[in-house]
Amino acid sequence: MIPGNLFIVAAPSGAGKTSLVRELLARDGRVRLSISYTTRAARPGEVDGRDYHFVSKEEFLAMLEAGEFLESAEVYGNHYGTSQGWIREAIAAGDDILLEIDWQGAAQVRRLFPEAIGVFIVPPSLDALRHRLTGRGQDSAEVIERRMAAAREDISHVSEFDYVIINDDFAEAVADLCAIFRTRRLLIARQLARHASLFHQFNP
Ligand code: GDP
Ligand code: ADP
Ligand code: 5GP
Repeated sequence: MIPGNLFIVAAPSGAGKTSLVRELLARDGRVRLSISYTTRAARPGEVDGRDYHFVSKEEFLAMLEAGEFLESAEVYGNHYGTSQGWIREAIAAGDDILLEIDWQGAAQVRRLFPEAIGVFIVPPSLDALRHRLTGRGQDSAEVIERRMAAAREDISHVSEFDYVIINDDFAEAVADLCAIFRTRRLLIARQLARHASLFHQFNP
């Protein structure tokens, strides 16, 4: 068993994954977010090294060839990947880790770490999804259409995950996400390891 929790959060584009994760990180100081590598162009306001490590396709393929990714996938025509080195280091430190990746990447990570906890976020309706993608104002009409078409495929993988959050009311969805993280930390195996000296006082 890895010493910390490994959480995977996936969702169709526009379901609110990034907004929910940002809120979770603001409230929960114990979880570390993996910053993915991507060949997608940065959106206005996105910062290299904070939102993603933005790289060229050549750089990405060289990293892939060198085995630097724990998992990688082509999503909506761009490459995305999770750094192998960063994850291994965070796992060794016993930290709780959060991966914000697509369902293909989630399947790869689950094969490597079967104890990974999968959370899938869905929008309240197809219409709401289109509204959010449009309202975000960051993607072209063509990109939005491609993402809408992919949402069907994305959502067909929902049963591969452990938890589902319907992101209708944002505050409620944030509370749901925080509750999942909190519950997993209270599992007996985690608590016995974390509080070994407490239990030892009672049963030396
Ligand atoms: P957004 O979901 O609309 O914010 O769009 P992004 O461009 O940020 O992400 C596109 C897709 O790539 C999503 O399905 C992400 O979950 C996925 N993704 C992001 N980072 C990674 C990664 O490191 N590995 C994999 N496999 N997928 C990723
Ligand atoms: P993702 O990372 O899954 O693509 P974002 O977090 O970028 O999604 O959210 C997509 C858009 O929807 C953003 O403009 C965000 O502000 C909005 N949004 C997120 N959650 C909700 C919600 N519960 N109600 C209304 N709008 C939302
Ligand atoms: P966006 O381009 O809108 O930021 O993200 C589109 C999709 O790519 C999202 O579903 C996101 O989760 C996924 N994605 C982002 N980073 C990674 C990654 O490192 N690996 C995989 N497999 N998917 C990723």
